[in-house]
Amino acid sequence: METNGSDTNLRHTQSPAIRRRIILFPMPFQGHINPMLQLANILHTQGFEITIIHTEYNSPNHSNYPHFTFNSISDRLSEIENHLPMKANAEALYFVKYLNISCVDPFRGCLAGLLEKYGEGSIGCLITDAGFYFTQAVAESLKLPRMVLRTSSVSCVLAWGVLPFFPENNYFNLTKEDPNYESSAPEFPVIKFKDVAKMTTNPDGMRNYVTNMISHMKASSGLIWNTFKELEEPSLETIVQQFSVPSFALGPFHKYFPASSSSLIEQDKTVLQWLDTQSPKSVIYISFGSIAHITESEFQEIAHGLANSGFPFLWVVRPGIVSCSNWLESLPEKFLESVGDRGRIVKWAPQQEVLANPATGCFWTHCGWNSTLESICEGVPMICSPCFGDQPIDARYVSDVWKIGVYLEDGFDRVEIKMAIKRVMMDEEMRERINSFKEKVNSSLEEGGSSHQSLKRLVDYILSFCN
Ligand code: UDP
Repeated sequence: METNGSDTNLRHTQSPAIRRRIILFPMPFQGHINPMLQLANILHTQGFEITIIHTEYNSPNHSNYPHFTFNSISDRLSEIENHLPMKANAEALYFVKYLNISCVDPFRGCLAGLLEKYGEGSIGCLITDAGFYFTQAVAESLKLPRMVLRTSSVSCVLAWGVLPFFPENNYFNLTKEDPNYESSAPEFPVIKFKDVAKMTTNPDGMRNYVTNMISHMKASSGLIWNTFKELEEPSLETIVQQFSVPSFALGPFHKYFPASSSSLIEQDKTVLQWLDTQSPKSVIYISFGSIAHITESEFQEIAHGLANSGFPFLWVVRPGIVSCSNWLESLPEKFLESVGDRGRIVKWAPQQEVLANPATGCFWTHCGWNSTLESICEGVPMICSPCFGDQPIDARYVSDVWKIGVYLEDGFDRVEIKMAIKRVMMDEEMRERINSFKEKVNSSLEEGGSSHQSLKRLVDYILSFCN
């Protein structure tokens, strides 16, 4: 098992006599699998036995977790094979809705089998991803408490809960000329009008997903968040008021256990040697996560922006990220020759180690929640290019609330990109602000810190189901 320094604060708190099993069920996407398996590891160190139920699609690598037991269930995704690999926006919502129907019977059968196998009273609770809202009814029918892991920020759930996802709404028919384009959304003023349409191209699907997710979160026995109090205190207070179930913010989970063992794509570790040859805080790291897609012209603007910036860069180009292209075919002519050793391009990187490397000076990110947290934990300021879902909300918090990054507000333009890079690389106050969050993360995980206390409360809460 891979661990890092923080796990020295984790001690087994249960005696073997009262060891209980927890069953966890992640959604089958990289940004959801990582935090769920990290949470499973955290709970294992607290003395719980761990069983993971997972879909066939994007199965985690069992051999990296010899201390867990795994149960794979049929997801019937082969019946919609032409929808794979999943693409962002409308298709992601279709995919999630489909799984919430196709997994019901296999999941119920698997869970009932596990209850029979281990015996009543030996299973403390079920923890599922919030996006698997169908599991609430299954858990209730089997009289098993269900807790929810929501893998986004707390603020995202609050924003989604009040934004009107209707296709006929102003937000989805907005042009740049509209006087409201730059204004704050009255329902959630941190968000601008122009951010809302970026969240989805399928407002009906989004409304359906958000309504189901939130109502089944409210019906659950408790909420677990991969965040920490010092980052999202006002939002956490609001969630406690609005959702009358206990909330536990014990993140960032990857500070207890890194995500490399749950990576679905092989990470190219050779980049770490290359980073070691670069000057401190000189390298731009670029990655847009596991699902986002960009167009060919956006890809080319990124390339020109990087070439013109003059800084060394490490660019993750996930195969298939560029629409209608396998990998690097769309790079501008002579791009590779012109940047030479100054640039490295890889298919997938050991992101947490890259961010922790002293050479990394800035992270140009799509603002997935895991990436945002990982950057905060290493004190690396961000350039934000959100694509869809919760990413525009995270970008707004990074740039306007926490002031630890620059938002490329209006897409990809080589001149804007060069300016944003320069600003993030040079702005010492921004770096100080993100370093102060980094220190707060570390304190929150120490004995007596907010996340450490939340973990203790969570363990006691789960044990209370067993009495
Ligand atoms: N990641 C990685 N290598 C990469 C890019 C990303 O290991 O080259 C990991 C990253 O550390 C994070 C996860 O993949 O834990 C991406 O999750 P996130 O929520 O940021 O974005 P998503 O993929 O869900 O859009």
